[in-house]
Amino acid sequence: MAPYQNLEEYNLEITDEVRERYSSIIEEIGEDVAREGLLKTPERAAKAMLFLTQGYQQDAAEILRGAMFKEDYDDMVIVKGIELYSLCEHHMLPFFGKAHIAYIPNGQIVGLSKLPRIVDVFARRLQVQERLTHDILECINDTLKPKGVAVVIEAAHMCMMMRGVQKQNSVTTTSGFRGQFEKIETRNEFLKLISSDLA
Ligand SMILES: [Zn+2]
Repeated sequence: MAPYQNLEEYNLEITDEVRERYSSIIEEIGEDVAREGLLKTPERAAKAMLFLTQGYQQDAAEILRGAMFKEDYDDMVIVKGIELYSLCEHHMLPFFGKAHIAYIPNGQIVGLSKLPRIVDVFARRLQVQERLTHDILECINDTLKPKGVAVVIEAAHMCMMMRGVQKQNSVTTTSGFRGQFEKIETRNEFLKLISSDLA
């Protein structure tokens, strides 16, 4: 699988199929697909959906492996406040928020921009927040083999905000810890560092 793909290179056959189905959905909800404002909507929606689920075509471990460097640094590395946009697999509605990632190198570090990249790879699939957290955690743990890794995700779910319980301000927090972060002091240090200037 190619880690990098031109995002505009949509598979035309799939786009066609998805476009046809969006067209049916628009009709089924009582709209007129021939209305001027909606003429190109099925195609735009199909392309948007394929963009938002492009993570299936990407290999997060390969992205990490492409930017790993030998380095003796063995303190905690933290990237916090990574913007995150995903789709819940139950309603196919967005959930979005921030991811905070930390790891303690074990002889190897990874290019810092790769951590937001792998968040995108796993977020651009149909997800639940718990699995997304776990996917990111395990990918870093298995690929970089650090002394420890921690992932915290805070996200708001449109399926809760727009429908259902309509809890507009609720944020769901999930977290996962491996290695040294399973020790309470290390975990607390990380949690203190990521919460230091979070509103
Ligand atoms: Zn949902």
